[in-house]
Amino acid sequence: MAAGSNRSVGPASQGVFPGWEDPRWRGRLRTRLGTWYDKTARELPWRRSRNPYYVWVSEIMLQQTQVATVIPYFERFIQQFPTIAALASAREEQVLRLWEGLGYYRRARQLHRAAITIVAEHAGRFPDDPDAVQRLPGIGRYTSGAILSIAFDQRQPVLEANTLRLLSRLLAYQGDPRGSAGQRILWQAAERLLPRHRTGRFNQALMELGSLVCTPRQPRCDQCPLQSLCPTFVGGLQAQIPRASKRVEFQDVHEAAIVIWQGDSVWLRRCADGERWAGLWDFPRFPWPNTDSDKSSTAKAHTILRRQAQQQSQVGLGPLRPWTELKHGVTRFRIRLSVFQTNTRPPRLRARKKTDTTAPLPTGDGQWIPMRQLQEIPLSTTGRKIARLVVQHLDP
Ligand code: SF4
Repeated sequence: MAAGSNRSVGPASQGVFPGWEDPRWRGRLRTRLGTWYDKTARELPWRRSRNPYYVWVSEIMLQQTQVATVIPYFERFIQQFPTIAALASAREEQVLRLWEGLGYYRRARQLHRAAITIVAEHAGRFPDDPDAVQRLPGIGRYTSGAILSIAFDQRQPVLEANTLRLLSRLLAYQGDPRGSAGQRILWQAAERLLPRHRTGRFNQALMELGSLVCTPRQPRCDQCPLQSLCPTFVGGLQAQIPRASKRVEFQDVHEAAIVIWQGDSVWLRRCADGERWAGLWDFPRFPWPNTDSDKSSTAKAHTILRRQAQQQSQVGLGPLRPWTELKHGVTRFRIRLSVFQTNTRPPRLRARKKTDTTAPLPTGDGQWIPMRQLQEIPLSTTGRKIARLVVQHLDP
C-alpha cells in the first residue's frame, strides 16, 4: 500500500488499541517522540549528513548487527570507498576484506553489485524512486523506506526489529508480529503515524526509542516519553508483547579444516556461491566423516579427510597432524572445527601448481597463497583464526 493511504490499522477487530483512531493521540505521540529524539539522539557517523550513500551503507551494516560493532566498519568503509563510484570500481575481494568479521557476507556482495547497477543505470546517483530503489540487490521495503525518508524526506514508513517491537507495544498487538496479518497491521501503523514533514527524523526517532528504551526485555518504561500513551505499559503487558518468535534450534556441526603447507605458502580455496562463506577464502574444510571416537574410526576419518584434501588441492599429501580445535557459531550452527596440518609430499608427488610469490590476489577456486598475502585476502571467520596460527607458527 502506498505511503499516505487512509486505510486504518483497524482497532478492536484486529486486536489493537483503539486509541489509534484518535488523531490527537497520534499527534501527541509524534510531538513527544520528536522532542525526546532532539534531546537524546546519539551522535553516529552516518547521521552527520543526509548523503543517501552513507545512509544506505549504514542501514545494510546495521542489519542483524549492533550499532557499536558497525561504527568502526562504517568509518573504514567510507574512508576506503567514499562514493558509490569508488565502491563500484572496487574488486569484490576488497569489499569483502573490509567487511570481514561483520558477518552475513551476502550483504557486502549485494551492496557491491548494487553500486555497479547505480553507476550503470543511474549515472552513479542514488535513485529516489521507490521502485528503482527496491530493484537494487539487497534492498527491500524496510531499507528503501529508511533511505528515502532519511536522505530524501519522502513519506515512507520503516519496520525493522526495533520498530516492530515498539509499534507492537503501542498497538498492544498480541498476535504474531512476524506473521502476514501482523506485518500488515504494523506496516499500516508505521505509515499512519508518519508526520507530513521530517519523516526521516521521525523514523529515526522510532528506531532509536525501540533500540534504547523499548528494549526486548525489561523496557525502560520509566524513561519513556510515550509512557502515558502506551496501552502495553498501562496493562503491564511488556513481557507478553510482542509475542515471542520461535526459538532458534541450534545444530551442532563437526568439521575439519586442513592447513596444507608448501614452503611458505598454504593452499586456500574460494567458497562458491551457495556455500556458507560464499566469496570468501577458506582452508580446505570438510564435514567430519564419522561420529565415533575410538582409535580405529579416528584413523579412518583422517584417511578420508586426507583423501578429500588431496582431491581438492590436486596434490599428494603427507599424514594429517592434529593442530588445534576451534569453536564458532554461525547463524543456527554451532561449529566444532578440528584443524589439521600437513605438507605436500616431496618430491615424487610434488604439487602440480607451483608457488608463485609474485601472483596478484587470487581469483580462482583454489590457489597457493604466500604467507605475506594472507593479510590481504578476505577469509572466513575461522579461516582468519587459522591464518593467525599459521603466521605465528612461522614467526613465533
Ligand atoms: Fe515501550 Fe514501555 Fe515506552 Fe510502552 S512505555 S513504548 S512498553 S518503553
